[in-house]
Formats: sequence, C-alpha cells, structure tokens
Amino acid sequence: MNYNSLNHKSKTASFREAVIRGLAPDKGLYFPESVTALDTASIKALENLPDEEIAYRAIKQFAGDEIPEGELRNIVRETLSFEFPLREIEDNVYALELFHGPTMAFKDVGARFMARCLGYFNRNKKQDGGKVNVLVATSGDTGGAVASGFLGVKGVNVVILYPKGKVSDIQERQLTTLGQNITALEVNGTFDDCQDMVKTAFLDEGLREKNLTSANSINVARWLPQMFYFFFAYKQLKDKNKDVVFAVPSGNFGNICAGIMAHRLGMPAYHFVAATNINDTVPQYLKSGVYSPKPSQQTISNAMDVGNPSNFVRIQHLFDNDLDELKARFSSYSFTDEATRDAMSRIYEKSGYIADPHGAVGYLGLKEYLKDNPGKTGIFLETAHPVKFLDIVEETLGVNVAIPEQIKAVMGKDKVKLNISNYEELKRFLLEKE
Ligand SMILES: *Cc1c(COP(=O)(O)O)cnc(C)c1O
Repeated sequence: MNYNSLNHKSKTASFREAVIRGLAPDKGLYFPESVTALDTASIKALENLPDEEIAYRAIKQFAGDEIPEGELRNIVRETLSFEFPLREIEDNVYALELFHGPTMAFKDVGARFMARCLGYFNRNKKQDGGKVNVLVATSGDTGGAVASGFLGVKGVNVVILYPKGKVSDIQERQLTTLGQNITALEVNGTFDDCQDMVKTAFLDEGLREKNLTSANSINVARWLPQMFYFFFAYKQLKDKNKDVVFAVPSGNFGNICAGIMAHRLGMPAYHFVAATNINDTVPQYLKSGVYSPKPSQQTISNAMDVGNPSNFVRIQHLFDNDLDELKARFSSYSFTDEATRDAMSRIYEKSGYIADPHGAVGYLGLKEYLKDNPGKTGIFLETAHPVKFLDIVEETLGVNVAIPEQIKAVMGKDKVKLNISNYEELKRFLLEKE
C-alpha cells in the first residue's frame, strides 16, 4: 500500500517508510492511497471467524505487501493477547471494554502492533548501529502503552519524556520500571515542554543518523490496528438487525477515525459519535463550520485534553472535506466534568457498572444522540480501566476499586529515570546513546 501525505507536498511512501517516519516530510499525516471494502462473505462470516482472522483480513491491504503473511499473522496474534468484551449495561446500551491489556488502556493495541512492525522492519540491523529510536512525550497513558508494547523489541530503543510530578504514581511506575530498551526521562517542566523538545529533536539535522520516529496516533501503525475491536464489538452483538451507533470518547480523534475506517471496510454501522470533554474544538466546528483550535484545558478525563486534535484531518479526508457529508454519519458533543461525574454515578446506581471518566464521556455522547434517534443499538468505548483514574473514581462513587494484577506487578518495582531540564540535555543524551 502507498501512503499519501494529507499536506500533498511530499512523495508517496510505502507502509515501511510511513511507519519509520511517522509524519511525512511536509509535516502532513499519512493516509492510505486507497481503501477497499472486504468481500461480503467476510462480513457475513464475522460471527464465525476468530478475532485474529478478522484482524488479519482488516489490516492485510494496508501492510500485507511489505510484511509476509506469516509474519503479519504473528504480529496480529501477539497484538491481540487479551480480551475485548462487550458488556450490556442497559437495554441496547453496551460498553466495549478496551482495557484488558498490559497497561489497561486501549492504546496497548496500537502500541503493540506498531512495535512489532518496527521490529520486523529492523530485524536485520546490527546491534551497533542503524537502530530506530522512538521518542515520545507523554502526559500519562501513551508512555506506558508504548513502553510496554516496545519492551524487548530488537533494533528499537524507546525514550519517553514525561513532566516531573504531573503523572500519577501508577503511570510513572509503568514508564520507569521496565528497563531493557526503554529509558524514561523526567523533565523539569510541563507536558507542553516535553512535546516541544520532541518536536525540536525531529527537526534537528544533527540527530538525523539517530533514526528518530514517533509512536503517537499520527503513526499509521498505531492508528490502523484500532479498527480491529470495532469489528470484534459488532461480532459480539446478539441482535444484528438493529442499526448500530458507536460513541467514542475522543481527544486526538485517532480511535474514532479508526472506527470510521472499519466502516469503510464494510463493518455495519449507522452513525459515529465523538464525545469530548470541554476541549470542544470539533463539536464547535460541526455547529459553526469554523475550525478553530484552542489551547487545551485540564479536565478529569485528561487523556482527552486536546485543543487541536491531530487526526481530525484524516476524518475530514474520509468525507471529502465536505461538512454535510460528515454530519450525515458523524456527530460530536462536549461535556463538563460535572456532567461526567454525574454520569459515572448514574451508571453505577442503575447498573452497578464502574465507568472511568473517559468511558463516562462516551456514554454521555451516546445517550445524547439516542435521545433524538431512538430504537438503535448503542456501543460506547470504555477506553481505560477505572483503576487508572483511581482518585476520581473512588471519590465520585464512594467505592473501592480492586487493584488488578497488571497494576500490582509494577507497584513493588523501583523507578529508574534520568532527570533533564532542557533540549541540550536531551540532545546530548540521544547523541551518547548507542
Ligand atoms: C488517549 C485516550 C483517549 C483519546 O483517544 P484518541 O484516539 O486520542 O481520541 C481516550 N481515553 C483514554 C483513556 C485515552 O488514553
């Protein structure tokens, strides 16, 4: 598959080039040159196909001419090493639980797939050179998923920058206790400082030979595998005769964009709802037709505190940059922290289900849409385990959340990190790295 830059100033890239570069040279996001629906027999057979087979059929056209079938099937199998249960919490309202992976957030799927693709592309690199260095800034969840996904992958080093004192204890442990090819850099500054340093490093000619790449959802190998679990959700629905609405709690809009791609591949869906917190750039755009990004504001669903969602250009491209076409299939609503806490309480009282703040925003988006569009089946994505937002969940619901094994495993380990204050220190660190 060839990939085009959505800024249209760079040459097309192969899957391998797109994965290794992350962003195109003209700073545009890569997008597949064509998207072909699966044959109707595959869609009809969904219920009887194993998850791995569904995932392989979905991803094949995007990677299959550069990764041989056996390798790609292995990558898919290793990516999907956990469950994706669909739970009915009210009549015709389901939660798709995406938090059963090693770091308990949906980002595990994309990170594991991308890590294994990069590992395949670098399989012949010698120990002493040509390694790829994945550089990633994190405000919490991304770093943990990337660290866990890339752990032990040959030919790839991972360097994670996080703001000192601004990630939770559990999140910091997920970044700093792994060792091997993962290095954690604690930055005396904010998340924006971390992100600025990463951006500066990508543009620094002096670091060219370090093969720097990014591992956030702009990378096609992190974005596209997120299609898989939309198919798995549909597969698990008992009644497939009703129209299905997917509601996705959204920040950078990579997850929901993957859902729309799954629909283009033939997965039946009636409508998509992007639910946001008060960072409402997209809901405002749908209302006014004017796209005006804003600085991000802090909320209790902090993985969605994004003022300029990077994947929204991909969604616009999918609808030929036509606002009316977009609105026919896609709605977006924003919710305050107060409404989010209220939804967490209502869900718990009504059905005993503990939602994390991100899932609760998704639930609110779904309910808002269903108000005017009754009689549909609704699925909201529960993107993180409530334990990841323990303080907010326990204080809002007055319950204790049991600590799962994945989290217990990191609690006893020592944090190992280097402390840096500015870009020069980051650059020196990268140059000295083998
Ligand atoms: C990253 C994240 C999101 C937002 O996903 P996007 O693909 O950026 O829209 C939502 N919920 C959780 C828990 C996350 O970690």
